[in-house]
Amino acid sequence: MSEIRFYAALLTGKLARAGMRLLGRNATYLPGVIALKICPDFLLRVGKPKTVVSVTGTNGKTTTVNLVCDLLEQTGRRVLHNRFGTNVNAGIATSLMLGCRLSGRSKYDIAVFETDERSAKRIYPFIQPTHIVITNLFRDSVMRNAHSEFISGILTDAIPPQTLLILNADDPVSFRVAPGNRRIYYGIEKLATDTIECVNLLNDMRICPICNGALKYEYRRYHHIGKFHCEDCGFHTPEYDYSAAKIDFGAMTMRVSDKSGGQGNYNLINDSIFNAYNTIAVIALMRVLGMPHEEISAAMSRIDIMGSRYRMDREGDIRVVMQFSKAINAPAITRAFDHVAGQPGLKQLLVIMNDLGDEKEWSENICWMYDCDFEFLNKPDITRIIVAGPRVKDLYFRMLLAGVPEEKLLCRQNELDTPELFDYKEKSDIYIFHGLDSYEVARQARDVIAKYAREEAGK
Ligand SMILES: [Zn+2]
Repeated sequence: MSEIRFYAALLTGKLARAGMRLLGRNATYLPGVIALKICPDFLLRVGKPKTVVSVTGTNGKTTTVNLVCDLLEQTGRRVLHNRFGTNVNAGIATSLMLGCRLSGRSKYDIAVFETDERSAKRIYPFIQPTHIVITNLFRDSVMRNAHSEFISGILTDAIPPQTLLILNADDPVSFRVAPGNRRIYYGIEKLATDTIECVNLLNDMRICPICNGALKYEYRRYHHIGKFHCEDCGFHTPEYDYSAAKIDFGAMTMRVSDKSGGQGNYNLINDSIFNAYNTIAVIALMRVLGMPHEEISAAMSRIDIMGSRYRMDREGDIRVVMQFSKAINAPAITRAFDHVAGQPGLKQLLVIMNDLGDEKEWSENICWMYDCDFEFLNKPDITRIIVAGPRVKDLYFRMLLAGVPEEKLLCRQNELDTPELFDYKEKSDIYIFHGLDSYEVARQARDVIAKYAREEAGK
């Protein structure tokens, strides 16, 4: 009976997808929903490739999956993935359904799935990944994710015992996931910019998770990321199996070393340390899958990964940059603020982090602002900050609390009223911070800003 249910689900799902495609719809979710409705253990029964890689974590999942898929495809492998779909169980069910024949057998040798960390219990026990890469675990939306340790518990409960884990050794929240599993650690050696004390508002690893003693950081990169040990029980950052060093954001290069002695030189995909972590995670995975450094490095240098997350254009005499950050995610936005604040030269900012969602239910909508380091924007070379959108008053108030002088701040409810507020004569670069919900309006504002900048240059 359950066999019949599975084949009925497979067939109906495939037909639903074909029908939706005929109607010009993006059929990456609904066919999976239908299949799971007909056959609740569809994910268990559907044919899977020999190698199933899942990438999960709070930040960097999409970039990491894009890199892994591009690399595998660059080296001539056909990859089943959910890049254009959703990362919950129905999205993965749709991908696996498309990747298998009517017999239920998979047509692929390898699958790479971005997996929502909260959905792990509905996915991992069924698809039994051979490898799971965890990018990091940070605080995210409080309503959806509670706390990073809560997510770590979900993953530990859901990960099958035979899965090989590829973990960030510099992140004490995520490297402790599923302690009984075989594991490979990656990390980044000490950088000149590392500190000892935490400069961020969020610092979620103050005490030892084993004995509650004080953790001593030898160096700290940001938030709880860094190298530490507990003086009471000896709990410490694990040794790296794959480590990145000699990171040079000027030359955009880094060197990756294997514990076993191998070494490779790599190009960085951009100048953020966050993406250096995503890159080393990908390299560690490829090494585990048996790819030599030379092959990974050569394939990586041919990849253009930036896409819609970061866009930089020269318009007249200035640079106009669109900087995406996941809204309501304080560490991700803090990293973006830190990154932009560290760029050379004078800067003007437009901040449109709307992501209002459902106003009545989403009571946390602004609590992320008080976990996020707006203080990083209070710098002399940031000459003007314009806030806009439905949350304009909250943003304005938070900027004032961060010490940003009132005379530098401007606010407008309507995002499209902002381009005329910049000082184009100053010839400073303009950065536009936006989330997913505010992407479209941010892009429209960008186009007008670009036009004004070109007009100013032509005078
Ligand atoms: Zn301890």
